[in-house]
Amino acid sequence: ATPTAIMVGTGLGAQRGVLFKNATALESSARIETVVMDKTGTLTKGEPEVTDVVVDGIGTDELLSLVAAVERESEHPLAGAIVRYAAERGAPEVPLTNFRNVPGHGAAAEVDGRRVAVGNRKLMIAENVDFGTLMGTRDDLAASGRTAVLVAVDGHGVGVIALADAVRETSAAAVAALHDLGVEVVMLSGDNEATAQRIAGQLGIDTVIAEVLPGDKAAKIVELQNAGKKVAMVGDGVNDAPALAQADLGIAIGAGTDVAIETADLVLMRSDPLDVPVALQIGRGTLRKMR
Ligand code: ADP
Ligand code: MG
Repeated sequence: ATPTAIMVGTGLGAQRGVLFKNATALESSARIETVVMDKTGTLTKGEPEVTDVVVDGIGTDELLSLVAAVERESEHPLAGAIVRYAAERGAPEVPLTNFRNVPGHGAAAEVDGRRVAVGNRKLMIAENVDFGTLMGTRDDLAASGRTAVLVAVDGHGVGVIALADAVRETSAAAVAALHDLGVEVVMLSGDNEATAQRIAGQLGIDTVIAEVLPGDKAAKIVELQNAGKKVAMVGDGVNDAPALAQADLGIAIGAGTDVAIETADLVLMRSDPLDVPVALQIGRGTLRKMR
């Protein structure tokens, strides 16, 4: 690598807010064959909003009070959206005890003497909750691309809260540009399979790895690398940091968490997915000049 080529490539990137942390990052970007993209906060804006609340045997405001009590203790982006929605509706605040966060699954606590669990299907299986007819509602909401959060009170499924998280304006164009560069695009998500598949379909992504636990994202990168691919990972969350470190090129969304930004080899200051193909092109241009 000639120092001049590196300087030119780094400078070109910097003009666009594409910050290569070192020469190795620039060189790696020229060789990427697969780009793995986190869904929430990377392909989507990461600003979920409640769209539907479906209840069974409980009032909507009562459900929202119980759920908001639990979610007030959680730092998950879904939790924040639910707490805001409950407050806007004026659902009364109630105290809680014995809060438990279950990473990749949800959260639980005792509220007003009742056991409340909020999260995905895996959590409900772990808590032995039967969802009955509400499961069909959940499947329909997930098939429409929304994230469906399940609610159980005292071991009974009583509600589904659906949240929508808009895709970033340039996500589909970014996927198309990567395909034009001959790069395979994979979506990696902790969200459920149907939700992830629907959003991937909208964006033209054909490979989806969903329902991945936070601690398993890096292992998915290893699997792709073992298949002989040079892999880039694009992410924003604390959850993504080990996968960013494992990838041949870790790319952080500028609006993401400090941990992701510190771990990555490359930071997209404008948080624009279109800057992923731009970065790979800058890398390829730099490598050509080095030959
Ligand atoms: P992601 O939010 O990126 O999809 P996570 O691993 O953080 O991935 O969570 C996986 C899934 O677990 C979420 O999509 C959601 O269904 C559920 N979940 C996690 N935490 C919460 C929470 N505090 N409230 C409701 N659901 C949750
Ligand atoms: Mg994310």
